[in-house]
Amino acid sequence: MDIHEYQAKEILSRFGVECPPGALAYSPEQAAYRSRELGGEAWVVKAQIHAGGRARAGGVKRCASDTEIQAACEAMFGAKIVTHQTGPEGKGIYRVYVESAVEIAREIYVGLVLDRSSQRIMIVCSGNGGMEIEEIAAERPDSLIRATVEPAVGLQDFQCREIAFALGLDPAVVQPFARTLQGCYRAFRDLDATMVEINPMVLTGDGRVLALDAKMTFDDNALFRRPQIAELRDKSQEDPRECRATDRGLSYVGLGGSIGCIVNGAGLAMATMDTIKLAGGEPANFLDIGGGATPERVAKAFRLVMSDSGVQAVLVNVFAGINRCDWVAEGVVQALTGSPVAVPVVVRLAGTNVKEGQRILARSGLPVIRAATLNEAAERVVGAWRRDRAGRGGPGAAA
Ligand code: GDP
Ligand code: MN
Repeated sequence: MDIHEYQAKEILSRFGVECPPGALAYSPEQAAYRSRELGGEAWVVKAQIHAGGRARAGGVKRCASDTEIQAACEAMFGAKIVTHQTGPEGKGIYRVYVESAVEIAREIYVGLVLDRSSQRIMIVCSGNGGMEIEEIAAERPDSLIRATVEPAVGLQDFQCREIAFALGLDPAVVQPFARTLQGCYRAFRDLDATMVEINPMVLTGDGRVLALDAKMTFDDNALFRRPQIAELRDKSQEDPRECRATDRGLSYVGLGGSIGCIVNGAGLAMATMDTIKLAGGEPANFLDIGGGATPERVAKAFRLVMSDSGVQAVLVNVFAGINRCDWVAEGVVQALTGSPVAVPVVVRLAGTNVKEGQRILARSGLPVIRAATLNEAAERVVGAWRRDRAGRGGPGAAA
């Protein structure tokens, strides 16, 4: 789960990371009011969206007066920002953060990530702060400094000093820099984060080290024990389709094609999507019903997949081990009887109670197309989708 910059800064401040003074606002008037509360002569208005690269897309504006703040906010509120991290549909701006402007002497990139190959928290720094990490990795890979943290002892001060020296920091700022890194590390470890990124961390002329930007991502599987983090979730920043699924305890991934996929297990999901593509189709999404799915759960999954307006055909592909084909079949029948769907539905079942599952589908009298193998299922769903489109004269008809 991602959180906003202002939320990350509030958390990191509690761990001793210094941030410029700032205030949150939900309207242009409130932003101007809050800048007066902050005081000073220059502010930076920052769109709060779950993505980086805002500055280049007009989401970060330096302002020197109330009127400038109002104007900057008028342009931001309700608008969508598209950056390389948002996807083409962009993310909506509903909150802005107003911050006292800082005079920057130097910008540094600081990232803490979970490195799966070393199974350690890894610290990545670069003197090319302000550039996105993808750009640094592509254009200035030589500038990257890495250190891994031994979990039994935690981040050591000597490691922070080594990074500071490699960055060529002035000896006077080595201490505050080390304190900042330690704060980021402790926040990461204590709150089950998977990523903390300060880009840029800045050095000021008067020898301070400040987090000018902050991003944190948390492990979804640990949210149950981090209620204070879980409540920072902002659904306006999530794909509404994925959001509806998460709320119902289902894992769902939205894609751009036309064939909805209901499967069990991530591996089978990948294989199903590959086979659909091989047969000439494009998946619209995939939904993993998990293990031991009850008919109700399957029906819920079916309705969720159907609520995606891009879906023009559905493939249910379940290889039942812990699951039961009869329950899956009952779920499909429940969903189709409750609200008949106008698109072709193909079901391929294999494994536990498959015969009973087939009988339930056959007896239901519903227009469900059955298939015995994954190849057959993919070919049938793509074929049925094409015929259905041809019948409607819609897109896909000519494909
Ligand atoms: P991002 O584009 O989403 O990563 O947003 P950032 O918060 O990182 O801001 C982008 C850039 O704007 C920073 O790298 C800075 O160069 C600049 N910036 C942001 N806040 C300030 C500020 O208070 N003072 C100055 N001088 N520049 C700022
Ligand atoms: Mn940034």
